[in-house]
Amino acid sequence: MTEPRTPEVVGSIVDLRERIAQARAAAIAEGGAGRVSLVPTMGALHEGHLSLVARAGELADVVVVSIFVNPLQFGDPTDLDLYPRTLDTDVAKLTPAGVDFVFAPTAREMYPNGASGTTITAGPVGSLLEGASRPGHFDGVLTVVDKLIKISGADVVLFGQKDAQQVFLVQSMVTDLNTPVQIEVVPIVRADNGLALSSRNARLSEAEQDGALALNAALAAASAHYGAAADALAAARAVIEAQPLVKLDYLVVVHPETFLPVDDDYRGPARMLVAALVGGTRLIDNTALGTTDPDFS
Ligand code: AMP
Repeated sequence: MTEPRTPEVVGSIVDLRERIAQARAAAIAEGGAGRVSLVPTMGALHEGHLSLVARAGELADVVVVSIFVNPLQFGDPTDLDLYPRTLDTDVAKLTPAGVDFVFAPTAREMYPNGASGTTITAGPVGSLLEGASRPGHFDGVLTVVDKLIKISGADVVLFGQKDAQQVFLVQSMVTDLNTPVQIEVVPIVRADNGLALSSRNARLSEAEQDGALALNAALAAASAHYGAAADALAAARAVIEAQPLVKLDYLVVVHPETFLPVDDDYRGPARMLVAALVGGTRLIDNTALGTTDPDFS
């Protein structure tokens, strides 16, 4: 379903449910399966987001993109205020991609009880890594994802591997809570120089953009030296420490099934995760180690 069409922008939950039900019925009447896909985003869309949208169109007849800067997942009110809000540009970017609905609710529509409503708790992995730097972040992410799944009634929801811990926690949530939805993970989209695309890259000066390349270069060095986890970590750390503009937050190798750090002598399939401050901008990246399985990319 990738014919260009201007998406219908919907702000109300009731209206979105009604319009999706109509679109689903119309797709079935035309002989389709009537499947609905959902791509949750916070807007400021780039090619990374658009690759999720393209895949969503392959998997379903009706494509919904949500654009909602979720206050529940921001610990720092300044960070929330500074987050770019570019709805008109985002809708224009989605038009060639074949999107049916953009769900762009207000915070009040999503959280009529403010911060005092019921929320989802991410469990122990939610407090590690990104969760250690941003306490409560993943509780906010899972709460909004659970709500968006129920609001849209989506059959499939798409996430980027760029946010590997988010992918792990969302997959855990739908398993643990028996949520009847398929989670589809899309590989990281990178610039030609290897930098993982992110809305935050726009904040980098030219010198910082060069410095930021140390993150993906570190992951590449780790892949090249993967034998045991300790070797991969040493290779990656050397690349980052050679770049004065990059201040490392964490560099770890985690087990794909537990998302917990592996022992130094571990040699099996794993994922390396890096987070660093480049100037004032916090960037994350990750790569699979010890596997050539494309589904594990
Ligand atoms: P965000 O708007 O930052 O919450 O991101 C929305 C979705 O886009 C998430 O599932 C992200 O993982 C995904 N995403 C962001 N950047 C990229 C990228 N460079 N490659 C693939 N997916 C991405």
